[in-house]
Amino acid sequence: MPAEPVLADDDLKKCLLRELERRFGLSYIFIFHDLAAVSCLADRIAVMYLGKIVEVLPTGDLLSGACHPYTRGLLAAVPEPDPRQRYSRQVTVKGEPPNPADPPPGCRFHPRCPEARQICREN
Ligand code: SF4
Repeated sequence: MPAEPVLADDDLKKCLLRELERRFGLSYIFIFHDLAAVSCLADRIAVMYLGKIVEVLPTGDLLSGACHPYTRGLLAAVPEPDPRQRYSRQVTVKGEPPNPADPPPGCRFHPRCPEARQICREN
């Protein structure tokens, strides 16, 4: 067993990316499906659904400031190790995404949105 702490591979990558960003003034665009992972790396997050950006927010506002039901559904899907917190922020996104080549009229998210109203279905 090593005596000193060992950085996880992902932590090492994050440190390297932050160092490159600081030294060379670089910016990155990452495409992730895991909000927990991206929130460790990004300063701002743009959430896309069916090829369209539905919400952009600073990473620090992700947990408390997400407005779009899809963003809140993604957050609810992040595994929560504390069972007392597990159901407190649950927004369920049901169903499968529609065909992007033939998106639904109105809001593209309306077939899966728990808050959809009639106006959301109209063009
Ligand atoms: S379906 Fe309506 S409530 Fe749901 S995200 Fe779209 S516009 Fe908003």
